[in-house]
Amino acid sequence: CGIFAYMNYRVPRTRKEIFETLIKGLQRLEYRGYDSAGVAIDGNNNEVKERHIQLVKKRGNVKALDEELYKQDSMDLQVEFETHFGIAHTRWATHGVPNAVNSHPQRSDKGNEFVVIHNGIITNYKDLRKFLESKGYEFESETDTETIAKLIKYVFDNRETEDITFSTLVERVIQQLEGAFALVFKSIHYPGEAVATRRGSPLLIGVRSKYKLSTEQIPVLYRTRNIENVKNICKTRMKRLDSSTCLHAVGDKAVEFFFASDASAIIEHTNRVIFLEDDDIAAVADGKLSIHRVKRLASDDPSRAIQTLQ
Ligand code: GLU
Repeated sequence: CGIFAYMNYRVPRTRKEIFETLIKGLQRLEYRGYDSAGVAIDGNNNEVKERHIQLVKKRGNVKALDEELYKQDSMDLQVEFETHFGIAHTRWATHGVPNAVNSHPQRSDKGNEFVVIHNGIITNYKDLRKFLESKGYEFESETDTETIAKLIKYVFDNRETEDITFSTLVERVIQQLEGAFALVFKSIHYPGEAVATRRGSPLLIGVRSKYKLSTEQIPVLYRTRNIENVKNICKTRMKRLDSSTCLHAVGDKAVEFFFASDASAIIEHTNRVIFLEDDDIAAVADGKLSIHRVKRLASDDPSRAIQTLQ
């Protein structure tokens, strides 16, 4: 029901600071109602490429999750990350009872190769799940969301080129999805990268940097105190764009990104925000944010999606 994610790029933050930012973000979204909460963050390894992903999930309120985070022996609170991406979620169960396994982030496999947080409902998840099970992917939860985590691993496992980008994987995934979603993905295969997308459920991105951001391609990062204004400006801008043509480059210097389902979780950090539109994919890699619009596949035949996957 509530999404909050935080990336610090070349901005050193201790794990404690990262926890505090994530928990505060979730607390700002508490008014939306929820039954459980969870986060995915990086493990201790200093070497970015060797880091695994750690999940902490808990039935109950954000305070219970907060307490659980500090109970984890394996987590050194003082360890500092120059670049880190953490994702956090409060869940309002639609598919599967409220418990820790059904909480988000949902994962692709026991190694946490891909993790995802989701607001909304995937209406064709049963067909997708059946397909993935027939390919040997084992499910652990009752959620519609787990299908998305398994599907991105399926697309990754069957990739035709080694250098496929994170955002291309997500593009393939959302072309198979029916229903409503705001999604944020994290993966050990793409350390220091983030991908977010939406259709039907809200999602916005805040950007904070003390450096001047380069926005040459499309000047869509506006500085204003009035969130509504930004929303309207972005809408008119985006309408003029064809799919896949929109790029917002924000420089390669120290920068922080905040992803949230509601502006209330972002405004305390920054007043530079971008509201994603339906079928936008926003990807952060090397501290640069790019957004493009994905063309939807025609979806009159519910089994079509699965056939194109095979
Ligand atoms: N449909 C998903 C689930 O039940 C997400 C619910 C939500 O938006 O919190 O797990």
